Amino acid sequence: MSTPTATSQYQQQYEEARLRGLDLDMTRGKPCADQLDLSAPLLAGVGAEYLARDGTDCRNYGCADGLADVKRLYASYLGVGIDEILMGDNSSLSLMHDVVAQALLRGVPGSDGPWAGTGARFLCPVPGYDRHFSICEHLGIEMITVPLGSEGPDLETVARLAGEDERIKGIFCVPRYSNPTGITYSDATVRGLASMETAAKDFRIIWDNAYAVHHLYPNPAPLTNILDECKRAGNSQRPLLFGSTSKITLAGAGLAMVGASEVNLADLRLFRSKQSIGPDKLSELSHLRFLPDLAAIENHMQNHADILRPKFEAVLMILDERLGPHGVATWTRPRGGYFISLETREGCASAVIDLAAQAGVRLTPAGATFPYGRDPKDTNIRLAPSYPSIEELREATGILALSILIVSEQKGFL
Ligand code: PLP
Repeated sequence: MSTPTATSQYQQQYEEARLRGLDLDMTRGKPCADQLDLSAPLLAGVGAEYLARDGTDCRNYGCADGLADVKRLYASYLGVGIDEILMGDNSSLSLMHDVVAQALLRGVPGSDGPWAGTGARFLCPVPGYDRHFSICEHLGIEMITVPLGSEGPDLETVARLAGEDERIKGIFCVPRYSNPTGITYSDATVRGLASMETAAKDFRIIWDNAYAVHHLYPNPAPLTNILDECKRAGNSQRPLLFGSTSKITLAGAGLAMVGASEVNLADLRLFRSKQSIGPDKLSELSHLRFLPDLAAIENHMQNHADILRPKFEAVLMILDERLGPHGVATWTRPRGGYFISLETREGCASAVIDLAAQAGVRLTPAGATFPYGRDPKDTNIRLAPSYPSIEELREATGILALSILIVSEQKGFL
């Protein structure tokens, strides 16, 4: 889109901002350097103390599921039993990718055969996480969108679709502080997902609990345990739970994990054993020494919250001030996680993102929060406040607000 030609007060302010030649990046939910510094002790590694408590030499091959003490801690973190967890290396996304790829190649426990060639489809709550969608797109799984509300995906739609089409093999869920809207699934949603009838007998819930402990404020809403609920409903094989310390310790060098029923775990173990002779136990051991229990993780996350909260609040304050009175956008007020999700009026989001980019503010590409990059109403913009400084965020959000006002004016919404 070109720079606007008609002049309005917003355009003048925008022009002034544009001439400052800024370069601000709000595209991805990366931790900032101050957050990474909180985990500085990890950089020293384990030194010469490379034996785990049970005598395992962490320098060597072996321990395919991860160190026993590490599994114990992260099993309670995920809410599964000690025999229901497997530690990966640093990326939960890569575990999710492999689980889906393996299902296509071999099926999962309960399948009649590989998912490939069956027209496998996934339900994708929207707006959602772009990298979930790219896994499906890359592996040729058709995506069917379902609306994400304030309590999770619309259960009626999910249950109807999953109940009538056996090609629907699963759903991607970010149950706490969803990316990008920041909502946490209600108890009714978790129970509904766990107990609904599905046409596919090998239906899987990819339960990506990436933001399990990433609270910005005290007294977080509880999240019902999906594995317990699925077991209670007689669907123990349904959920695959993922987590990582990417946004607890070091985003590029944390620990990833998958939790599931023992039947699923045996299957995961089988393919993991073909991929690797064991995960990075030195990283596991240094993590364990740095964060030995759940209380230590919680304390550490408060330090993250102290860095992130003012950033979220700075963005929200500017949105409230500049856009509040005009009715041209709405936005979420997350209690945790990494994102704010903003809705423009229909048909405005991509033009807003282009206009902000021309003034040096990079935002997540339009459509990224929808499968195939297609936001049908062109309204959603994902804001990622973690990485820039507060000053940069104020500047960037001011330009975003001006861009929204200008585009809304041009389209007759103001
Ligand atoms: N899942 C969600 C919902 C995310 O937002 C992210 C990162 O932004 C990831 C997973 C990435 O996880 P990992 O670093 O463990 O691969």
